[in-house]
Amino acid sequence: MSCTRRDFVSGAGALIAVAGSGLATSQLALGSNNEEKPIRYAMLHDEQVCIGCTACMEACRETNHVPEGVSRLEIIRSEPVGEFPNVKYEFFRQSCQHCTNAPCVKVCPTGASFIDKSTGIVDVNRDLCVGCSYCIAVCPYRVRFIHPEKKTADKCNFCRDTNLAQGKQPACVESCPTKALTFGDLNDPNSEISKAIKEKPVYRTKVELGTQPNLYHVPFAHGEPRR
Ligand code: SF4
Ligand code: SF4
Ligand code: SF4
Repeated sequence: MSCTRRDFVSGAGALIAVAGSGLATSQLALGSNNEEKPIRYAMLHDEQVCIGCTACMEACRETNHVPEGVSRLEIIRSEPVGEFPNVKYEFFRQSCQHCTNAPCVKVCPTGASFIDKSTGIVDVNRDLCVGCSYCIAVCPYRVRFIHPEKKTADKCNFCRDTNLAQGKQPACVESCPTKALTFGDLNDPNSEISKAIKEKPVYRTKVELGTQPNLYHVPFAHGEPRR
């Protein structure tokens, strides 16, 4: 789980929208195209609350039957931040961003990679996937993999066919002991995630690529400023 400081920052991608204060930045971070779908699911990872326990990773693996050796979700730990005895670590969530403008969907030659029109969730139709790996090559967030047993592309799908289908929150959200994860509909201004994004400073990664990611982060409060 741990990594060097350089890997951590690289894994985090370019910081685009860290904010000092709430509303103006939140509006920036909400991005565009949020009116297009009836529901626009998104997730928020609060790095100030995350303790790096990886309960979310384990819950995802169990719920979605993800074999060892691959993962839909990584919690990446930074190098120590600060001086002993006041050492802290930053924890960064790496998983599918459910891009509104998803390169993985555009390159898929069979239509297996798709955006669910009613929720904005980016998912893979295993029956159509031929395992060509084009989507893996083009994903700028490096979160896709070939499922070692099914031989098809796989990644986080917000538990679309597991917990969500059962009317529950995603497994990672349910399992987090510190409530560091918030999931919900950004098109509903009264949803918990909409309110959280308005109230807290947030950032997304690699927005300069035009992917319009729907994974938000509350930045860690300590350590060097990210650039
Ligand atoms: S379960 Fe929560 S606190 Fe633990 S690593 Fe995941 S997000 Fe962080
Ligand atoms: S993060 Fe990667 S896999 Fe997920 S929607 Fe964006 S391009 Fe596709
Ligand atoms: S939303 Fe579901 S599939 Fe995505 S990381 Fe969380 S548990 Fe895994």
